[in-house]
Amino acid sequence: MIGRTRGPWHTRRMDSTSQSARIVVLAGPSGVGKGTVVKQLKEWYPDLAVSVSATTRDPRPGEIDGVDYHFVTDEEFDRLIASDGLAEWALVHGLNRYGTPQAPLDAELARGRSVLVEIDLAGARQIRHSRPDAYLVFLAPPSMEELIARLSGRGTETFEEQQRRLATAREEMAARSEFDTTIVNTTVTHAARELAAILGLD
Ligand code: 5GP
Repeated sequence: MIGRTRGPWHTRRMDSTSQSARIVVLAGPSGVGKGTVVKQLKEWYPDLAVSVSATTRDPRPGEIDGVDYHFVTDEEFDRLIASDGLAEWALVHGLNRYGTPQAPLDAELARGRSVLVEIDLAGARQIRHSRPDAYLVFLAPPSMEELIARLSGRGTETFEEQQRRLATAREEMAARSEFDTTIVNTTVTHAARELAAILGLD
């Protein structure tokens, strides 16, 4: 569990007998800050059920297997797909595969607990199709300019790379209408509070 700096007023147990247990998907354009918002929520609500994805990418320094991700080999990922072990999966940035393990998702829902799933847009579309009862939340940047500024990072990209990222960002922003609701990521605290309300935590 990642919850480290929980404020006493935020630490609350989830109602394990909730009647409205559902999958809540958080997606949005890359660079918008989904991971940071989820991390904040986990700190406030250590008991929150958050899906741990399987991925073929290598762990980054400090990441823990089974906590941040289930780090698997290509062969293991193939086996997960073949055994219908994933609720959705996608090749992200054309590099690595990421997927949502099916069994823990079903187990949490069977216990009456909502599950937060943070995935990319391709994954969100798959969940929309396979689980029409899921609630899809689009995390949007305050403005296109803000997203572009975040994407351009240190400004070391070539002009072509910047143009490619911009085109992708525009495409991703257009997906907003496919979602049940939008949270604008003005600040991490604001976005995390809105997400908490959707999850019935407030
Ligand atoms: P990172 O490698 O930076 O942790 O994540 C890269 C991207 O993969 C993020 O946009 C994240 O939302 C997405 N991602 C993480 N887990 C999953 C998953 O299980 N399924 C899908 N489709 N995307 C995921």
